[in-house]
Amino acid sequence: MADFIGALDQGTTSTRFMIFDQAGDEVARHQLEHRQILPRAGWVEHDPLEIVENCQICIAGALSEAQLQLRELAAIGLTNQRETTVLWNPRTGEPWSNAIVWQDTRTDSIIHELEKSGAGALVRARTGLPPATYFAGGKLRWLLDNIEGLRAAARRGEVAFGTIDTWVLWNLTGGIDGGVHVTDVTNASRTMLMDLRKLRWDPELLSLFDVPPEVLPEIAPSAHVFGHLRWPGEPETGTVIAGILGDQQAATVGQVCLRVGQAKNTYGTGNFMLLNVGREAVPSKAGLLTTVCYQFEGAAPVYALEGSVAVTGSAVQWLRDQLGMIRSAPEIEALANSVEDSGGVYFVPAFSGLFAPYWRSDARGVVVGLSRHSNRGHLARATLEAICYQSRDVLEAMKADSGLDLETIKVDGGATANDTLMQLQADILGVNVVRPKVIETTSLGASYAAGLATGFWNGTGDLEAHWSADRSWHPTWAEDRRQEGYRNWKRAVERTFGWIELGS
Ligand code: ADP
Repeated sequence: MADFIGALDQGTTSTRFMIFDQAGDEVARHQLEHRQILPRAGWVEHDPLEIVENCQICIAGALSEAQLQLRELAAIGLTNQRETTVLWNPRTGEPWSNAIVWQDTRTDSIIHELEKSGAGALVRARTGLPPATYFAGGKLRWLLDNIEGLRAAARRGEVAFGTIDTWVLWNLTGGIDGGVHVTDVTNASRTMLMDLRKLRWDPELLSLFDVPPEVLPEIAPSAHVFGHLRWPGEPETGTVIAGILGDQQAATVGQVCLRVGQAKNTYGTGNFMLLNVGREAVPSKAGLLTTVCYQFEGAAPVYALEGSVAVTGSAVQWLRDQLGMIRSAPEIEALANSVEDSGGVYFVPAFSGLFAPYWRSDARGVVVGLSRHSNRGHLARATLEAICYQSRDVLEAMKADSGLDLETIKVDGGATANDTLMQLQADILGVNVVRPKVIETTSLGASYAAGLATGFWNGTGDLEAHWSADRSWHPTWAEDRRQEGYRNWKRAVERTFGWIELGS
């Protein structure tokens, strides 16, 4: 058995390939950003071919840094930005258009019509998801309706649908030359097209979204041998792709939240808190999603409650790119520390509506509480606080749905490098925040799935032994400050509602 395992993480802003050893320690990584294509307000696209090329460059780059050959990897796990939708021609390998990214809101009228028709309840009950522009089903429908001739092409077998996992898997397992057209249960659970309990495409939902079944991939467990990696110049790599998990599910596995009641919060472009609820899908009344957390081969699926927040780290990028207030994301920390507090300023970055727990596609961003005294430092601090308050909204919903009172949350993701943000998070939540030694939990989780499927690791006990804490933050605010801050945050959120007039 080879000594190493690889994880390919195709994220929203970048792609990285990481190599781990048997102890779960990093051996090498290579990372590349890709273009964010913003053709109109509310539209966000990626170039699918650029993504595949970056995957290949990252795999080659990390192998060369570690001075390893492909065959020295026991397996590769794949994890991906979820919901982002690609349609391609499986005969030529050409995408039919750019990928529509999860943040894209062009499908708001499709979602609005669906709710108006009364079909929202069916979607919620069967998929665990509230109808929203976020999920892949609406994006697939939009492409079928808006690319001329696509439905006829689908009848000729010239259209394949995939979320990013499926698109990358198909390409890395041979593409037009025998590529595997499969997704895993976690990614399929984000389409609004899969029955959450049966783990199958649902005929009623397919007809609701007017989706021809022939474009859909097969659905498989997350830890499972999907296919052999095909690599230019190396016809027999022997390396299998043996795990697929959506990025947030991967981070949950990477944080070894494998027991009921364990939760993690990831701070990236958006924020995603997942709580393991076990073998039964728990429907949410408080505005969370019910989703598949993972399924290991031969075992029952494990479900999670999820609070997804669209804009957190990307609000920091907005300060950097649109306002030019900082030159790099980490600079926000010093700017936020140039003031003692946010000076009464609240920033609700509802750039693409609000996700959990509000699900308001008619919301748009606001900055409130400005006075002549307000400065850049206050806005920077309000941006960090917005990340924390949005997590508080989600934690409150989790408590309401699950009846569990969490004392500690495990955190990960790029923005957890910001210690000021982590302290604010403990203060605003009133719970302890713990960052593990390996914060690359998404990649780690993908490698865990692949390692379990191939016997590289023997069981979840091996994985639990890898986790250890790096640093913890404890709440320091007095309770009345915490309550007052949260009350004002909720007043600020109300001011975002209804800004976009969606029609009656
Ligand atoms: P993703 O996987 O979603 O692309 P990452 O986990 O790589 O995201 O995190 C990147 C996000 O974190 C970016 O949106 C960036 O603005 C934000 N970020 C990175 N470093 C910091 C920091 N020190 N403080 C605040 N935000 C940060």
